[in-house]
Amino acid sequence: MEKKNIDWSSLGFSYMKTDWRYSRIWEDGQWKEGGLTDKAEVTISECAGVLQYAQTGFEGLKVYETVKGEVVAFRPDLNAERLQGTCDRLIMPKISTEDFLAALDELVKANLAYVPPYGSGASLYIRPFIYGCGPVIGVAPAPSYEFRMFCTPVGAYFKGGVKPIRIMLSDFDRAAPHGTGHIKAGLNYAMSLYAGEMAHKLGYNENMYLDAATRTYVEETGGANFIFITKDGKKLVTPKSDSILPSITRRSLTVVAKDYLGLEVEERPVAFSEVPSFAEVGLCGTAAVISPVGEIHTKDGDIKVPSGMAEMGPVLTKLRETITGIQMGTVEAPEGWIHRIC
Ligand SMILES: *Cc1c(COP(=O)(O)O)cnc(C)c1O
Repeated sequence: MEKKNIDWSSLGFSYMKTDWRYSRIWEDGQWKEGGLTDKAEVTISECAGVLQYAQTGFEGLKVYETVKGEVVAFRPDLNAERLQGTCDRLIMPKISTEDFLAALDELVKANLAYVPPYGSGASLYIRPFIYGCGPVIGVAPAPSYEFRMFCTPVGAYFKGGVKPIRIMLSDFDRAAPHGTGHIKAGLNYAMSLYAGEMAHKLGYNENMYLDAATRTYVEETGGANFIFITKDGKKLVTPKSDSILPSITRRSLTVVAKDYLGLEVEERPVAFSEVPSFAEVGLCGTAAVISPVGEIHTKDGDIKVPSGMAEMGPVLTKLRETITGIQMGTVEAPEGWIHRIC
């Protein structure tokens, strides 16, 4: 398959319209037959559930060309399962894992020319989502839904090497206890935009959010989970909380830490007061895999992470290399982690 004439090395993280997307409608109590469409626009009621009451959930995953030239997705079954959890919580109809994976395969095969070549650092980002498209004026679940999945090629997150970032401790909360912090809902992002803009204006990449009830424990950022490495370099610690979004990258990294690097892994509440005692701090998510944090700004002074602002610490570097090797096919993957599309 001939690739599109795209300068893969200059791609950022932005939307590029590709040739095909997958669409499937749920109405009259059931899913209709789905399929590909070349129409990138959607036409919905002005009173759609998504427009009035933000009834929408999404996913994000990447498709790569491996060293052997295969086109693969990283653990997409977990994205399917997480989307099912989001649908349950927002009273939307669920897509089975089987149907989700079939849609993914169909979408990617139709847009193969947009899959960035191995070694470019770029990848094909997949955006699946479900939203209420039917009209609702009284507060209630919408009468109809669309499941849609599109893709867009995205560049290497860090160009010219991984660089530590500065973040700030936010005065805002991301998610309430017993709320929707654990699902990938659009509403969680809408209400984080204000705090995100404030952080950017002050010169920080991201916000660190604490638990809303006590403001004592570390939760996550707007779109990535935290991992911490202890000073002896032997332990990975990651916050446990019911209001954190269960990152697939983070869940995979704990396995890589244990089984590939022989680290001890602790998933437990992490008090903010403990943060200065760690040697390395990382943010993990599909977009960047791991972003090293070099500094955390607080009103009571800045926390300088020992690994510093010049480069990523040694343990996070090993973790990152191992997991990206697994994704690219240069490191053997655990059973079931790599979904081959073609
Ligand atoms: C998507 C997301 C993450 C990262 O999850 P991955 O599955 O690793 O991409 C972390 N936090 C929030 C709030 C998210 O929405």
